[in-house]
Amino acid sequence: MSKKTQEKESGSETNGSPKPTSPNADLKLDFSSFWDYSAAPESSDFIDLKKEYHHYIGGKFVKPKKGRMMKTVNPATEEVIAEFAEGTSEDVNNAVKAARKAYDKTWGKLNGRERGKYIFRLARMIQERSRELAIVESMDGGKPIRESRDVDVPLAAAHFFYYAGWADKLDYAFPGRKAKPLGVCGQIIPWNFPLLMLAWKIAPALATGNTVVLKPAETTPLTALIFAEICNDAGLPDGVVNIVTGAGLTGASIVDHPDVNKIAFTGSTEVGKIIQKALAGTDKKFTLELGGKGPNIVFEDAPLDQTVEGIINAIFFNQGHVCCAGSRLLVQEGIADRLISKLKDRMDTLMVGDPLDKNTDVGAINSKAQFQKINEYLEIGVKEGASMYQSNGSLPQKGYFCRPTIFTDVGQSNRIVQEEIFGPVLTIQTFRTPAEAVDKANNTPYGLAGGVWTDKGSKIFKISQKMQSGVVWANTYNKFDPTSPFGGYKESGVGREGGLQGLYPYVNLD
Ligand code: ADP
Repeated sequence: MSKKTQEKESGSETNGSPKPTSPNADLKLDFSSFWDYSAAPESSDFIDLKKEYHHYIGGKFVKPKKGRMMKTVNPATEEVIAEFAEGTSEDVNNAVKAARKAYDKTWGKLNGRERGKYIFRLARMIQERSRELAIVESMDGGKPIRESRDVDVPLAAAHFFYYAGWADKLDYAFPGRKAKPLGVCGQIIPWNFPLLMLAWKIAPALATGNTVVLKPAETTPLTALIFAEICNDAGLPDGVVNIVTGAGLTGASIVDHPDVNKIAFTGSTEVGKIIQKALAGTDKKFTLELGGKGPNIVFEDAPLDQTVEGIINAIFFNQGHVCCAGSRLLVQEGIADRLISKLKDRMDTLMVGDPLDKNTDVGAINSKAQFQKINEYLEIGVKEGASMYQSNGSLPQKGYFCRPTIFTDVGQSNRIVQEEIFGPVLTIQTFRTPAEAVDKANNTPYGLAGGVWTDKGSKIFKISQKMQSGVVWANTYNKFDPTSPFGGYKESGVGREGGLQGLYPYVNLD
């Protein structure tokens, strides 16, 4: 305990004479000084990263003949971790050819039971390398080790386990119909959940008999490349999974390739629209999982302390880099002051810092570009006249760190209410009636996810049915499960991933 805290607790005064106080005079606690934990860093000594990574094509790591190398940076230290290749259209073409060959010669000919065995093996090998994967995910992307260890990696393995189970049961998934694979799937994923998004994409594609060309995001390519090693170690036939690294141009080459049968994309609405335009007039199938501005509605009969935890989890999980984040809090007027006061106290206990420290609640912002974008939005919010409150704990000197932030006094038309910030920034509005809550909840271009907090089950059903959201969580938030479908309405995208519904985009039904 710090000296400052001890003094505070004993009520001692600097001039030696005790101050006459009422019993409640110190009720406003300064949480920031209470929580001086010693660092508990996860050891990364055994992590053996290469200096340079190459594409994984046709079962081999292939050094590209042309194209430049890109760098991936640890956002908590601003140091380069490794270099990786920027895929050219030639690399993408080679990957698509390898995937087509595997589809025609090996994978497409295997029965579901055999495919399932391979996918189960991938799931188990992710578990075996889970510690390494979690550490690399945190180093490459900035997320707290607590999350990569307890959420990202276990859920990625769970997706492979779940879809492995479907591989030989497709006749039951689509009774009376025959499911046929599409062929080669191009998959483009973002940087917020690199390994988990890979699992969401690759597991259902393989289970249904397709082969894959996947591009990870340019700021977080490393766990996808470790997954490529896992594919090799699992003895997956060459070319079934191909990983081409690079940025937007590489992604566009996958989208435009004439021999790709399906595009699965998760990322920004802006890029989703570009991809949808590029696909117009082709017969490629597609799923787009795009941005969000999730409303989190709190009624006055909600259990307040539990709700505060839910709000914290909804917006500060993964630094708010979550497309379904509860980034708009809608609170019923009568409890707003109490709730906001409790929320501020809780925010002050959040530890922002080293992603590899097991105590850390909020890690580093994924990249410099995203850090700048979030800071621009903080300025916009202040200029729009909103009141900003930021948690008061300490921040590391180096790296891209942002304090958990809330904005009150905001209006529905404010940019910080309408636009996706993708950072630890929450806007708070009030409402009086359920109808007003629903109107405000639905009044953005997005419709990916939201939450409802209330004591009444009937209210949950009534409100959630009126919310234009692919997912509505009740008295909880950010809960994911491979058996549950996920996807958006409006500008949040098209198609569903996860669950039985997640099989549809990967098959043609006779
Ligand atoms: P974010 O805003 O979260 O960075 P993006 O939508 O820019 O999300 O990126 C998500 C993924 O889409 C990344 O893998 C990125 O390289 C890729 N990407 C970016 N631009 C394009 C494009 N024009 N075509 C295909 N993929 C793209």
